[in-house]
Amino acid sequence: MTGIGASASAEHAELVLQGGPVLVMDAAGSRADAVAVAGGRILAVGTRDDVAPLIGAATRVIELDGRAVLPGINDSHLHATWLGARWPHTFFGGHADGAQIEGVLTGDRAARRAAILRAGELLSRFGVTSLTEPGIGPGEDDGETGCFAGEVLDVYRELAEAGELRQRVTLLGLYGILDGPSRLDVVTAGIAELVDAQGGSDPEWLRIAGIKIFGDLIPLSKQAWSSRPYDDGTHGGLLVEGETLEVQTEALREMVRAGHRAGLQVGVHATGDRTIEVVLDAVASAADEPGAPHPRDLGHYVIHGDLATPEQVARIAELGMWFNSQPGIAVTTADWMAGVLGADVAPWPYAVALDAGVLVLSSDAPILAPDWRETVAAAEAWILRGGAPADPAAAAARLHGLLRAHTAVPAQQDRAADWKGTVEAGKVADLVVLAQDPFAVGAAGLPGVEIDLTVLDGNVVFERES
Ligand SMILES: [Zn+2]
Repeated sequence: MTGIGASASAEHAELVLQGGPVLVMDAAGSRADAVAVAGGRILAVGTRDDVAPLIGAATRVIELDGRAVLPGINDSHLHATWLGARWPHTFFGGHADGAQIEGVLTGDRAARRAAILRAGELLSRFGVTSLTEPGIGPGEDDGETGCFAGEVLDVYRELAEAGELRQRVTLLGLYGILDGPSRLDVVTAGIAELVDAQGGSDPEWLRIAGIKIFGDLIPLSKQAWSSRPYDDGTHGGLLVEGETLEVQTEALREMVRAGHRAGLQVGVHATGDRTIEVVLDAVASAADEPGAPHPRDLGHYVIHGDLATPEQVARIAELGMWFNSQPGIAVTTADWMAGVLGADVAPWPYAVALDAGVLVLSSDAPILAPDWRETVAAAEAWILRGGAPADPAAAAARLHGLLRAHTAVPAQQDRAADWKGTVEAGKVADLVVLAQDPFAVGAAGLPGVEIDLTVLDGNVVFERES
């Protein structure tokens, strides 16, 4: 185990969790019995004996009695402001009641602030300690809901500065309207603006990482650009302004390249295989430009990726990109997808993406509830449905991978794996305690496991009443 170095010093822990499996979520699947925390960092991970010298009079010691510790959950595609304004109304799932919530939800700064704080508290109850707010910007200043306006970024800055955020936030700028067409000149100008806007906040709390681009819409509305025809013979297209598909394609490529050139992370909403191909080609050519950074150092990713082919997933891995997707949406809309593209369509290649190490899980809340336990269960169901082996060893290996896809891997997408995402000494003390060991119940049983405690930066921010 990580253990305690000689440098552990005479410092006492503020918090010790002991007597339960500590699931480190490193690639090897390491486990420990205890974790000690001080000054917002993990001081030591090891056995009960290892942490004993760190327990002082003021240390809070929590006996886990078999409950499991995981790294704090990272929901890497979640519209927190919108969620805070809408909850408990989601678009799909057990909380669906979308029809009641229309029009402006956050019309001013105070409402935006309240929505972010409300989402923060809600997400703490789910064990979420990091998130990506994917798409905030001036294009939505007059948007329907108000939840994506440029001012939301100012509010995030203010909350970060005041220490009031309940999650570490990675933010993508949006230059256009949500689910609306992108324009090359507007996106290019936005990229310059974003570069200027970076910095100013503690990057462990608020990082203005890059840009969200809408490449296309979704297959369900027959608007994803698909090589396979829809039931009406059409193939969808790009959500980029331009006279012809060729012009649109080149505009999308140039948006991605411009983001890369500027050193920004680029997240592209891309669901059709043809759109995904354009994005991958763009990243490859951007990386070839003289002096350009390696894509791995910027963390670009495909968002949703519905119709990605296995070959495209392999290419995503080769390029050093990520595949950020929401199995809850796959499970919920599978029949609808088969209806528009045929029963033999094989969308959402999660098994391939998991094997390739590029799968990053997220909820897309408030599309779905921000419940990562449901997301993991949905991913497992989807992968099994694709014919993956169900024996206990295979299922356990897969569960480890899926839990990493909500902790360690999104930390890589955030380019923050050196300081968050696993339970290891020196990393930030973001932890979640589950009422049971997830490996005892399996992925399908995970939604029934209570979240007992959430620790953010060493502080208990949620504790379940027992
Ligand atoms: Zn989304």
